Amino acid sequence: MKPTITFFPVGNGDMTLIKLGDKTTILADINLCSSTDQDGNQIFDATAALRENLETDAHDRPYVDAFLLTHPDQDHCRGLKQHFHLGPMSDYNFDPPEGKELKIVMREIWSSPMIFRRASKNHPLCEDARAFNTEARRRVKVFRECSTLSQGDRILIIGKDENGKTDDLGSILIKVDEVFSKINGTANDVSIRVLAPIPVQEVSEEEERLSKNYSSVILQYTFSVAGQDDACLFLSGGDAGVYIWEKLWDRKRAKTDDLKYDLLLTPHHCSWHALSHDSWSQSKNPAISQDARSALSQGGECAFVVSSSKPIQNDKNDPPCWGAKQEYLSILSSVEGQFFCTGERPNQEAPEPMVFKISAQGPQPPTKQSTSVGGAAVGAGSTREPLHHG
Ligand SMILES: [Zn+2]
Repeated sequence: MKPTITFFPVGNGDMTLIKLGDKTTILADINLCSSTDQDGNQIFDATAALRENLETDAHDRPYVDAFLLTHPDQDHCRGLKQHFHLGPMSDYNFDPPEGKELKIVMREIWSSPMIFRRASKNHPLCEDARAFNTEARRRVKVFRECSTLSQGDRILIIGKDENGKTDDLGSILIKVDEVFSKINGTANDVSIRVLAPIPVQEVSEEEERLSKNYSSVILQYTFSVAGQDDACLFLSGGDAGVYIWEKLWDRKRAKTDDLKYDLLLTPHHCSWHALSHDSWSQSKNPAISQDARSALSQGGECAFVVSSSKPIQNDKNDPPCWGAKQEYLSILSSVEGQFFCTGERPNQEAPEPMVFKISAQGPQPPTKQSTSVGGAAVGAGSTREPLHHG
């Protein structure tokens, strides 16, 4: 089957599922909200949609080969404790309470202690983030004790931490600017370049600024399909803010290929703050940071930009922000690209997962058919089928 990248309509939050040709799955962030709104109306059921798209192992346990948490905000890890198995695999509960489903196994997790550190300087971590952090620490401890890891204990640490705290992690440490292609221990037809977290800054004011901005893991995935080595470049940057993108442009202006994309997930749900230091709602003429814009402008021909957010209206809201969308449209106009919003497809009333199939020619945009087979969770009695048909 062809690799796919699926963006789920989870409001202002992220949940991206990458499925490779051999069905290896990478799940980046989750925002598993309730399937009903405040008034009790049925809305998109993200949990059901995610579960339908996961493979199960020989013991019927749903699993992902790798789970990445780009940063520990609630809209990126909501539902972790409730739906994912945490702790050693020997503690897995095969007999969940009535009405509950078997928990999802994370064969490997990708975590960035640096981002946890920067985030926790600013605000207390939510319960799901703390649970993820505890699980990451448990896995690192197993690695330190055994120096090999088996499925369910595996972990990759993204980006070196400060003061040599990660220096002994050898094979499980992926430093910034490195490229890796082993997922859950097996080489695959995707290679992944780590662009951020931006390494620790020697000037403490700069480190302070990085902590104040939204830090996130920023990755550039390169998919190889049918012998085509760079069939699709996918750039995803969590909620990284304007200062991060400026720093990234500083580092990459002479090596722009590292920022190239055929598909971009807009940072921070199409927030103005990825592109500007000014407030969208309060400034009269909010200015664009040209460096941040340049970092986010490396789209190839016919590139796609996706906003994982609520519908984008022409108003003062942020995120998602109308002004940011106009900026992405202007970036896309020079390459004849297209812009999509997860909250708007196929319509705002009943959004559905958005599936990009990747062929040797690049990512293929969601068609009416491919989004509708995902089975909207809206309306009782709707039948669901798996999103992917190989
Ligand atoms: Zn977010």
